[in-house]
Amino acid sequence: MKLENYILGKWITGDGEGQPLYDAVTGETIAYATTKGLDFASILQYGRQVGNTALRKLSFHERGRMLKALALYLLERKEKFYQVSYHTGATKADSWIDIEGGIGNLFANASLRRKFPDLPYCTDGDPVGLSKGGTFMGHHLLVPKEGVAVHINAYNFPVWGMLEKCAVNWLAGVPAVVKPASITSYLTEAVVKEIIASNILPEGALQLICGSAGDMLDHVTAQDVVTFTGSKSTGLLLKSNKRILEEAVPFNMEADSLNAIVLGSDVRPDTPEWDIFLKEVRKEMTVKAGQKCTAIRRILVPEHLLEDAYIALGKSLSQTTIGNPLNEKVRMGALAGRDQREEVKQNVQKLLASSQIVYGSLDSVEVIDADAAKGAFLSPLLLMSEHPFQNEVVHEIECFGPVSTIMPYKNLNDAIALAKKGKGSLCCSIVTASDKIATEFVVGAATHHGRILVLNQECAKESTGHGSPLPMLIHGGPGRAGGGEEMGGVRGVKHYMQRVAVQGSPTTITAITQQYQPAAKGIQSPVHPFKKYFEDLEVGDQIITAKRTITSEDIDAFADLSGDHFYAHMEDTDFSGTMFERQVAHGYFIMSAAAGLFVDSYEKNPVLLNYGIDELRFTKPVYAGAEMYVRFTCKEKLPQDPKDENDIPKGIVKWLVEMFDETNEHIGVATILTMVKRKS
Ligand code: NAP
Repeated sequence: MKLENYILGKWITGDGEGQPLYDAVTGETIAYATTKGLDFASILQYGRQVGNTALRKLSFHERGRMLKALALYLLERKEKFYQVSYHTGATKADSWIDIEGGIGNLFANASLRRKFPDLPYCTDGDPVGLSKGGTFMGHHLLVPKEGVAVHINAYNFPVWGMLEKCAVNWLAGVPAVVKPASITSYLTEAVVKEIIASNILPEGALQLICGSAGDMLDHVTAQDVVTFTGSKSTGLLLKSNKRILEEAVPFNMEADSLNAIVLGSDVRPDTPEWDIFLKEVRKEMTVKAGQKCTAIRRILVPEHLLEDAYIALGKSLSQTTIGNPLNEKVRMGALAGRDQREEVKQNVQKLLASSQIVYGSLDSVEVIDADAAKGAFLSPLLLMSEHPFQNEVVHEIECFGPVSTIMPYKNLNDAIALAKKGKGSLCCSIVTASDKIATEFVVGAATHHGRILVLNQECAKESTGHGSPLPMLIHGGPGRAGGGEEMGGVRGVKHYMQRVAVQGSPTTITAITQQYQPAAKGIQSPVHPFKKYFEDLEVGDQIITAKRTITSEDIDAFADLSGDHFYAHMEDTDFSGTMFERQVAHGYFIMSAAAGLFVDSYEKNPVLLNYGIDELRFTKPVYAGAEMYVRFTCKEKLPQDPKDENDIPKGIVKWLVEMFDETNEHIGVATILTMVKRKS
């Protein structure tokens, strides 16, 4: 069966017979992949013209709801994907990470829409005042790039690898062309078939090519983004592509990584962290048969515990049943293919020049329900390097399989230095019950790692683990790991957007950003803004309230009512040596009095409730006799989805509350949040 490519709105098979793809367990040919004859320039152009045009018009909230709908659609069909995934050698648990982990990424990015406005673009950071008179300012804006995201992925996560990247570029408003690694592309194809059939994404938002990338990179432009996950050598080759350099195309690379775990010197075989350490190492070596970019490759233990640790780890690894992943007893399946196993073996041989095997065998493996000669099986291999400062290869060579090397360290500085010898990794863990050791390690090792996990008894049960990149945390690492960064919540979305600094008057910047900028012209209307429904409110709708005189009796009454008798609010305090001249009003009273001025109605109105204050500052002491008033402005509108059909349709409105005294100086400022009813 030839795999199909989804390009230019159609499913198309490439020319020629194609590259045979094998079942990792039986070694049988299960599909062929070819992209021969495809016109890669027009694939990219189609993505830009059709997919990008449609996606960039949608608001973040519309794109987020689309991701949620897609996640639900795929979840209903997940069993289909599990059946295909077994061919990659993955166990049910391995496939869960790939399939449901990938779908989970869609859900997480769908929820991330709430961090963005209901617009196709957004602001970045805070506004910047640029003039004394307040009539000139700047702000940063992020708009979706006008190109496509080209994702060149590794073979180990055919589903997650696609969805963790696409979820982000779709939320940003950019389409994708996905090129999975050929050998497991049949699983990616199965998922893309369902995505396209769902009709949830606009046409052109996703194209798939199964097989060689051909000359695709020779057609990318500065508006495209290329992401690469795979080996360092391929990554370097692609990153130095002439077109990528000439056009300054953003290139995000995730490559080899010699991830380490450190056993803290406080841990002993009789403390709870010992078992936590053993469990984590075993899991990281055997999940996905060690074919995880984040898997633990180097195990750093205090030198006096080296022997205890490798014996205990060997015992733990011996519990791992290996074989056909369809058999429920099997805990570790096959590698993705026999070529991959061969590559791992060759790399292990290189390590053995300066290390020794302390658990497992390079030549034999006992398997359940499978033929060890036909499937790509490999025993977990624990190696030991007794002189890790002299042994460079152990910090250089990544064996992309169930292989890890244990090594001793003398003190924490040595452990930090050894962890850094990986020259940049995706993640690093330390198992310790001591927060002092944890702090020293994290601060010392942070420069060389994308993520650091501190494991102890308190968090181990709920920990997501060393090897799990999470949608809301960055995934990537410096140096050898490629120097890239993906995911990380809002941070990831920004990779697919162009940042531009915009300068102008606060009124103009308010119109562009749809966020009221202080000192912009307000919109005065005879109707109080609390009487307007969500749809009718305009950013900039404003009232200037009546005035209220603050009296000493008010301050005393507020002190009694609230119980806040701080000396500064007491009339008879001796104020020498304090920040104040005399009895000062409580800031909270000024805020409450402000509410008394801007809330005008005894009757029901579209405001359903006030649910908080985001920022509140008291900028000047208010003494008895001051006359305060408020400028109250609609600052921003955020839509809210109804929870169910009985929920009241509504949105969130942020209001800027500027409080002034009789000299027209600010005495306080706040942003309050209300829920406002929609008409429908
Ligand atoms: P690879 O051989 O480097 O391939 C990676 C991707 O690049 C595949 O899609 C491959 O396509 C494609 N490719 C190869 N040559 C190309 C070319 N000339 N032009 C365009 N595309 C090209 O890596 P792999 O063997 O699939 O994956 C294993 C490696 O990936 C390991 O070293 C591992 O560390 C790394 N990895 C890193 C991460 C991470 O997040 N950092 C995650 C997973 C894996 P074909 O399959 O069609 O050749």
